[in-house]
Amino acid sequence: MTYTIEELLARSHDEWLAAAAKLSFETRLFIDGAFTDAASGDSFTSVSPRDGAVLAEVQAAGAEDVDRAVRSARAAFEDGRWRDLAPKERKRILLRWAGLIRANAEELALLDTLEMGKPITESVRIDVDKAAETIAWYAETLDKTYDEVAPTPGDALALITREPLGVIGAVVPWNYALLIASWKLGPALATGNSVVLKPAEQTSLAALRLAALASEAGLPDGVLNVVPGRGEVAGQALGRHPEVDKIAFTGSAEVARLFQVYAGESNGKQVAVEAGGKSPQLVLADADVEAAASAVAWGIFYNAGQTCNAGSRVVVHAAVKEQLLDAVRRITAETFRVGDPLDPATVMGPIVDEGQLAKILGYIERGRQDGARVLLGGGRTLTESGGTFVEPTVLDGVDNASVVGQEEIFGPVLAVVSYDGDVDEGVRLANQSDFGLVASVWTRDVKVAHRTARRLRAGTVWINTFDASDVITPFGGFKATGAGRDKSLHALDAYTALKTTWIDLS
Ligand code: NAD
Repeated sequence: MTYTIEELLARSHDEWLAAAAKLSFETRLFIDGAFTDAASGDSFTSVSPRDGAVLAEVQAAGAEDVDRAVRSARAAFEDGRWRDLAPKERKRILLRWAGLIRANAEELALLDTLEMGKPITESVRIDVDKAAETIAWYAETLDKTYDEVAPTPGDALALITREPLGVIGAVVPWNYALLIASWKLGPALATGNSVVLKPAEQTSLAALRLAALASEAGLPDGVLNVVPGRGEVAGQALGRHPEVDKIAFTGSAEVARLFQVYAGESNGKQVAVEAGGKSPQLVLADADVEAAASAVAWGIFYNAGQTCNAGSRVVVHAAVKEQLLDAVRRITAETFRVGDPLDPATVMGPIVDEGQLAKILGYIERGRQDGARVLLGGGRTLTESGGTFVEPTVLDGVDNASVVGQEEIFGPVLAVVSYDGDVDEGVRLANQSDFGLVASVWTRDVKVAHRTARRLRAGTVWINTFDASDVITPFGGFKATGAGRDKSLHALDAYTALKTTWIDLS
């Protein structure tokens, strides 16, 4: 039985609970077109953050398993079973896959929500539907992108073509398990590469299902392999594998650097990095404060703050700070209902696991010690559920240079930094960060808006909005956030190398 996205979005809590009770889990690795047991004999337990219940024991790939997956991907690449198919044919298969993702949205969304705690409507609307959209969008590029001819003299013809890199190791986090995977898989597969996907430990089940659907759509065996496993074991084995041509990584800045070390110590593979942020929303004195407050609340509490581009710092002019914070408090109370992520009325679900919850509570305590005032929330909540819930929290009076002003908390904790000077002072504070993923500026003055946007050091700058995005624009960051961009046509360059073919016509 399949349901449309619209039907799923209209479901009740009881209907989701009933569907969840019927779910079964595939927990083996996906290598060479089939589910297979891990040679490592290792496994890890998938625990649901909504109630602490054990979902499944997932097999964990060891170095030998990763090697098998990479060899399968390499063989698929070398014999051309995928890259040599006519672009139209590859497009047809990828579009069929996108269709199957949507047709299986109920199961994929449930896996996502049970494993990670994302509210079910968001799993359907964002993680599943947008992942399908991304795969379809890249499929559509296949017969619409052209290569180049260089301006040679008449006695020569020089072709500049884009060729696939070979085997891509895609290593992804848990916060948007399917969507971020699709940002890698869409362009990597469209351009003819083979992929070994290493999902985060917390969200392996949805990734395994995604691969099975690719197979069902007709993707040849070996072109997409999935190796759940521990980061320091399976992730490291992939990062050090001599037959991997590129690592496409999204995750923390610390682990991103490890992949650069693995590459340097193995075959010098390319490493593209999308790491974290401490992204500022800069609210100037002439801002539309009500609109800014809504964006500030959504920017930090959406997905329980477990978003790389969360607006986790607000840098606000003192003249409008009280008005802004009053509005943030009101909007949060009215909107951010914390609860069971299987309930469609829930807007904020749990934190992904106990470890992450402890880290967030530790940061709140650290903020207090460093002189910040807890204006809202500040503690664990719904403890009786067995889940890992934390209240939407606002820390006021944060020193931008302090720990909670600088480090990525990756939870629903807003750091409020205020300033009293001119725009330059606001920009200086906004840019005072090792990260540079996104930023926003709120002002009614169009000239100031444009000038300020240029000065903000971030991969995306929003003016009078926040988190507006689509597959059509690149996404990635400056500074420690990384190098490389996901999404848009530019991502096709990330998975191809330019080749010059010079032909003598004399
Ligand atoms: P993480 O860095 O801990 O893990 C990411 C991936 O790396 C996982 O698959 C993990 O298993 C693997 N890994 C962990 N340790 C490893 C090791 N020693 N060697 C090899 N692989 C290893 O990140 P996370 O906790 O899963 O996700 C949260 C982080 O991801 C946050 O910092 C967030 O900002 C970032 N993120 C960034 C973006 C972006 O596009 N810029 C998007 C989403 C999340």
